[in-house]
Amino acid sequence: MIAGMAETDVAPENTPAGQPPGQSAGQFAGEKLPLDAIADHRRLLARLRDVMAGLGTGQQRLDKIVCLIATEMKAEVCSCYIMRSGDMLELFSTVGLNPSAVHKTRLRVGEGVVGDIAARARATAMANARTHPNFAYRPETGEDEFQSLAGVPILRGGRVRGVLVIQHKQPRQYAETEVETLQTIAMVVAELVAGGALVSRQELSNVGDAALLPSRLGGVSLNGGLAIGQAVLHRHQLTIRDMVADDPDAELDRLRTALAGMYGAIDELLATTADGSEHRDILETYRMFAEDRGWLSRIREAVKTGLTAEAAVIQVQNDTRARMNQIADSYIRERLLDLDDLTNRLLRHLAGKKSASEGVAMPDDMILVARTLGPAELLDYDRAKLRGLVLEEGSATSHVVIVARALNIPVVAQCTDALNRVDPLDQMIVDGDNAQVFVRPSEDIKYVVAESMRMMAMREKLFARVRGLPSVSHDGVPVSIQLNAGLLIDLPHLEDSGADGIGLYRTEIPFMIRSSYPDVATQTMLYAKVLEIAGDKAVVFRTLDVGGDKKLSYFAVHEEANPALGWRAIRIGLDRPAMLRKQLRALLRAAAGRPLSLMFPMVAEVAEFRAARELVDMEIARAAVDGYDGPVKVRVGVMVEVPALLLQLPLLLPMVDFVSVGSNDLAQYLFAYDRGNPQLANRYDPLSPPMLAALRLIVEQCEIFGVPLSICGEMAGRPLEAMALVGIGFRSLSMSPPSVGPVKTMLRSLDVARLREYMVSLARCSDHSLRDRLRAFARDHAIII
Ligand code: PEP
Ligand code: MG
Repeated sequence: MIAGMAETDVAPENTPAGQPPGQSAGQFAGEKLPLDAIADHRRLLARLRDVMAGLGTGQQRLDKIVCLIATEMKAEVCSCYIMRSGDMLELFSTVGLNPSAVHKTRLRVGEGVVGDIAARARATAMANARTHPNFAYRPETGEDEFQSLAGVPILRGGRVRGVLVIQHKQPRQYAETEVETLQTIAMVVAELVAGGALVSRQELSNVGDAALLPSRLGGVSLNGGLAIGQAVLHRHQLTIRDMVADDPDAELDRLRTALAGMYGAIDELLATTADGSEHRDILETYRMFAEDRGWLSRIREAVKTGLTAEAAVIQVQNDTRARMNQIADSYIRERLLDLDDLTNRLLRHLAGKKSASEGVAMPDDMILVARTLGPAELLDYDRAKLRGLVLEEGSATSHVVIVARALNIPVVAQCTDALNRVDPLDQMIVDGDNAQVFVRPSEDIKYVVAESMRMMAMREKLFARVRGLPSVSHDGVPVSIQLNAGLLIDLPHLEDSGADGIGLYRTEIPFMIRSSYPDVATQTMLYAKVLEIAGDKAVVFRTLDVGGDKKLSYFAVHEEANPALGWRAIRIGLDRPAMLRKQLRALLRAAAGRPLSLMFPMVAEVAEFRAARELVDMEIARAAVDGYDGPVKVRVGVMVEVPALLLQLPLLLPMVDFVSVGSNDLAQYLFAYDRGNPQLANRYDPLSPPMLAALRLIVEQCEIFGVPLSICGEMAGRPLEAMALVGIGFRSLSMSPPSVGPVKTMLRSLDVARLREYMVSLARCSDHSLRDRLRAFARDHAIII
């Protein structure tokens, strides 16, 4: 049972020797309340609701709440401290302490018992506060006569917004019900704070680290670029209007209905998830948690005390989050995170919403913050407004990241605790180039970012101007610029960017974002759509390049010691010919009546290419037998990615219709480095003598055999690298859409004849990299890189 598991893991309170032990929030939640206590609790809640609904400023309402608590709980003191910027807790309202201390007494987070409650985000009750190791005496408050104290954090969205305290003169034990009542009231006060009724929203968003809120989050960049906008939390906390319910039975009914809806939705997902897939495991665990009896009974008990179903769910969520902040064990934290996720799902069902984006205010410039989300969920949000993505998890191969790249938005992942550190509509900057995120950035950071975005916009304008101009060098050498694509949403860029065609269509991407293997009809429809959108521009389809870092959730691959050197791409295609043939069949059907270009990835030997080409011939013959119109022409190419092919070019080239260099993999295998290993990311440079020598060899051999040559690795899209490629003889470059403008601009300022001469002179150089020399050449010859 999760509740039990978590409770034993909550660290015991640090109580001074000889004193009654303190109590933690975890010890109270889920305890059954006696009937008379429930009645008291409900009466208090009803009065609270009247205060909240009544007239008056935020301060007046807070004063009334504090009075109400003192009267109803027969406390000699009730005080409310609110978090201000600079991690300061300010006494905002009190009954029993010196009124002149209001808005004067301030405690740092961690200072005194109140500061300690805020720092640890946990409820505390003690019979003698003065012996607490953190006790801090503030003479101006006149609190020296009060011995016992119970306090709870005011939490919202996992962040501490203040502290609510009651005190008594005599040493006394606090009942669990009393602390629970305080926790409920703290939730109401949290809404008052979050609404900006006590401290301006501006200041609220500047509350610092101790409110679990650093203003800069580091992470891992999964897509470059810079974006500024307002936060939308994928797992947002819905605004709850009613905290207090008149009819607990009706609330229990609502809870039952919402739970049934949630179970149904998870079951639906399960039904569409392949057996044995990772997804299924995750969902099954999720489903199990959703029925956790401890969790459910804690929510039900909270409803019985007079809370609405939503407020009860949030109360339990606050408690779970408080525990999460105390737990170092990553396994338990993960489980609690799942529970947190479930809570949000349940809240959505209570609000009658199915998807996270439904009914959420969408700012025009939106930065989406999520723990993790599926690619379809990302596309649920309005693409026209999406500026950046921040993930608590995520890796380069996450499906959502692939889609985000296609949308050309910066992505920073592995931002620990981002959801708890950002509030809805907070201003944010996502700096994908430097793997950092600024939350509520200061004016100077905003200025720097705005300047750099202005510069980028100027460059964009410059690039836009070259869009319609011919892709030809300054001295008249034409170079074809093509696009790399992999999703239908990439394709509109073909028209916008002015590229000549699609030089690489990565067919595995549509496979990766599906939950099961698409059949021939589905693939045919997809490829036909690609060709239809491309119009009369050519598209080069690469057959399935999975394995290694590209995993299909529904395709079991044994754990491999070296996945980059493992069973991948054409190796899978040749070992599972039925799968490859289905893809070829779909491609041939989709291209009926027009030319088809396809190429095979990761070919390591001539025999592999021959075998793959035979499958194409077999499918062409089959299409004729089955009565399908075939393409008017089929061109079959090869990707040069494995260095072994460099030694077989004279045998290979007569068999192929074209060559495309996959420089990402070619560099990986040439230098024997894992391209996904960040430790090696900058170790080898594609602008190095061995890599350029390999590329030069391919150019020479293709020229000899008259085979069209292109290059589609990342280097083709970087202006300096593209310059070098043109210098050694490449006349076709394929790149991601944002690279077209910069590369074309470079090309139009380049004198190819001069560069060729210079590059010949570099052929004997043995430096680690030729980057600096090439950069100097560009500078000296006014080449725009
Ligand atoms: C390459 O290896 O350069 C390439 C284009 O293929 P991918 O990056 O998809 O492996
Ligand atoms: Mg590759």
